[in-house]
Amino acid sequence: MKYIFVTGGVVSSLGKGLTAAALGTLLENRGLKVCLQKFDPYLNVDPGTMSPYQHGEVYVLDDGAETDLDLGHYERFTSVQLSRLNNLTSGQVYQTVLDKERRGDYLGKTVQVIPHVTDEIHSRILQLGEHSQADVLITEIGGTTGDIEGLPFLEAIREFALDVGPTNVLFIHVTYVPFIKAAGELKTKPTQQSVAKLREIGIAPHLIVCRCEYPLDKELRQKISMFCNVPFECVIEEKDVDHSIYEVPLMLQRERMDDLICQQLRLDVPQAKMSHWQEIIRKLIAPAHRVRIGVVGKYIGLQDAYKSVYEAIMHGGVANDCGVEIVRVDAEDIEREGAEKVLKGLGGVLIPGGFGERGIEGKIAAAKYARENGMPYLGLCLGMQIATIEFARNMAGLEKAHSAEFEPTTPHPVIAMLDSQLKVTRKGGTMRLGAQPCQLKMGTRAAALYGAFIVKERHRHRYEFNNNYRDRLEKKGLVFSGTTPDEKLVEIIELPDHPFYIASQFHPEFQSKPHQPHPLFKGFIAAAHHRAHKKPL
Ligand code: GLN
Repeated sequence: MKYIFVTGGVVSSLGKGLTAAALGTLLENRGLKVCLQKFDPYLNVDPGTMSPYQHGEVYVLDDGAETDLDLGHYERFTSVQLSRLNNLTSGQVYQTVLDKERRGDYLGKTVQVIPHVTDEIHSRILQLGEHSQADVLITEIGGTTGDIEGLPFLEAIREFALDVGPTNVLFIHVTYVPFIKAAGELKTKPTQQSVAKLREIGIAPHLIVCRCEYPLDKELRQKISMFCNVPFECVIEEKDVDHSIYEVPLMLQRERMDDLICQQLRLDVPQAKMSHWQEIIRKLIAPAHRVRIGVVGKYIGLQDAYKSVYEAIMHGGVANDCGVEIVRVDAEDIEREGAEKVLKGLGGVLIPGGFGERGIEGKIAAAKYARENGMPYLGLCLGMQIATIEFARNMAGLEKAHSAEFEPTTPHPVIAMLDSQLKVTRKGGTMRLGAQPCQLKMGTRAAALYGAFIVKERHRHRYEFNNNYRDRLEKKGLVFSGTTPDEKLVEIIELPDHPFYIASQFHPEFQSKPHQPHPLFKGFIAAAHHRAHKKPL
């Protein structure tokens, strides 16, 4: 087994995760079995309890693990099946070490960062290696080199490299080469210093990936090569992409990054065939059609809060050879200005998941506008709960209908907690989480889109459709097109007399990939495109 470690330097938000994922694409397309994992140096056990302002999206895996959004990139860029083994935080490491200490497993020893914490990290790498049976395991270390909290991880991988030997391990340092406007130049000093910092810890990177806004010329590459002690060709340019993140694998391939890695790790495998990726890029850059989709949320100003949703929308566009412009709509703007003013002219409207009361009435107004104006609507998790509340209020005469999350004393809690959730007091990892089967009702649009009877979709919520209202809403025309196989929980709702009005209690966005667009997103964009161009479906 070969091990690649990806560290980051100079600043955070460099796109280390994307780089690791894109490398996964290239190696997988060379015929290798690849696995990816992320180490996060923070002390939270997982990001599930963090605010989107702190962390961006929480990405949910099949097994219900709440993980870092980089794992979303890993799943979208490769065919790896990830589980809770693939995301390790300092919080988890310390929790394990402290549990062992309380059990007495350390037999009277003083418990220390080295070797006990580092050993725990070490064994996690081995455990995942064993579990995945991959040829290459790519491990991304979160944070920036020089952070105090990242040190145990760096020390652990340094020791690990010593154990597995030089032809089995490769270090990649992703760094930033800033453009200084006043000087009109790219600057390499921060990269030199960041690599120096790494070498101080005992890690000498084999490849330096330079994130930059402008091309790296020969002189700069020579300078980085010399000061950072890597061969000239091992200085890799990773310029900001022009159009789409899916260009990154092609960009790294042009820099021969995968060739260099295969040489270094003695992997004798053919070149990667990337024609299907090129076709995806073609559809993203020069699509045959265009459509505008409004995403109505409360974290609209944040880049990362709805990452998988934005990606899945783009995939739906690729499936329809349709370029999508995502219009980020703040739900509170709808509250101030009215839905008509904000949403008019859009091809479709999507309401993603969310927690908390802010902006809820704006979202309800958006769902009403979409329903009444034949505007394609896709609701995800909270987006389904919103659609239910709106329908109950305006179609079933339950004027005060609400979700118990936002109004605990509402006379009509059309969205409510299950008894099992009412007992929950600890917040971390206690929602309804992970992939669960959903049974589709024959003859519905959902069944037609999926072309299946049972599907598996990922959940992350506490509240559910309240079955006491099933009959009443059904009589008024709401169709329950997906339920749990025992029919006890409503999973998908839809309106049959509407061009496209579907909402799911689960999060389909987590399973969409550029080359396997999710059927709900594919259908949604098709409907939005038809509306925008006034074509019948
Ligand atoms: N807040 C809602 C719930 O807990 C919806 C969650 C979500 O959209 N992920 O049920």
